[in-house]
Amino acid sequence: MSRLTGLLVTGDMVCDGCGVTMKHLERYAFICEDGRAPERLCESCSWERELLKKKKDDKGRDIETFL
Ligand SMILES: [Zn+2]
Repeated sequence: MSRLTGLLVTGDMVCDGCGVTMKHLERYAFICEDGRAPERLCESCSWERELLKKKKDDKGRDIETFL
């Protein structure tokens, strides 16, 4: 079982996917899978792994959201 949470960076953090430094208040994906070390992924890695999706909000605006 895996859990995905969309979070905001506090301080500087390093992406576990591409090694980029994520800045304070950027969004990142926190993935927790049973039996594996948790991963923190930047936005571009999240897109690559299809963890982020485009959706419409209730006013019809495009928003990006984590699954
Ligand atoms: Zn990355």
